[in-house]
Amino acid sequence: MLDAAHVITIALSKGRIFDETLPLLEAAGIRPSENPEQSRKLIIGTSRTDVRLLIVRASDTPTYVQYGAAELGIAGKDVLLEHGGVGLYQPLDLKIAACRMAVAAPEGFDYANTVRKGGRLRVATKYMQTAREHFAAKGVHVDLIKLYGSMELAPLVGLADAIVDLVSTGSTLRANNLCVVEEIVPISARLIVNQAALKLKREEIQLILDAFSKAVGL
Ligand code: ATP
Ligand code: MG
Repeated sequence: MLDAAHVITIALSKGRIFDETLPLLEAAGIRPSENPEQSRKLIIGTSRTDVRLLIVRASDTPTYVQYGAAELGIAGKDVLLEHGGVGLYQPLDLKIAACRMAVAAPEGFDYANTVRKGGRLRVATKYMQTAREHFAAKGVHVDLIKLYGSMELAPLVGLADAIVDLVSTGSTLRANNLCVVEEIVPISARLIVNQAALKLKREEIQLILDAFSKAVGL
């Protein structure tokens, strides 16, 4: 029986993060014993008795790792920017779940002109922190409206002039007559590590880090 001092817990979300992390886990000899899409289990064992996975909401991943409930985690840069990264090391860009954070507005909305004239902009977003910093750095006055999803709807019904959201192919934007008016930051998923755990379980963590680095091509 392994005691907790030797078990490594990795927090990650199901869906695209889980799917795209599978090959990296495989490279570290870690095969999940269940598929989280089918199982309702939130703690999943693996082919390695010293490694288990926690299935968490994407935006909760940094929190689990920050407080040491998991030594490692896999989280989108978008989520990390909102969280702030307190108590976390971010040693590795995994280059998965890649997309970009952008400002989008209805076709025909003169974003550049509104910004130039110093007009006030109503912006709907799930990414309050990133949006606040982006517009503050540009000196643009904004009223931010917090949403939890389907941001594309907001400009269509007059709730906002623009949105700050993740864009990959842009097809959701196009389907709703929106387009990117400004890029904010490229996004991909990062390996995150609890700072205290890195000292206490350095060897175990380093082995996983090395396997991931190699699989990512570093
Ligand atoms: P929830 O669905 O629980 O509200 P979420 O939408 O953040 O949370 P996912 O859709 O699984 O959860 O996204 C997880 C991560 O994948 C995001 O934090 C982001 O880093 C990345 N991601 C989101 N959308 C895309 C996309 N269209 N293309 C590539 N990566 C994306
Ligand atoms: Mg989503």
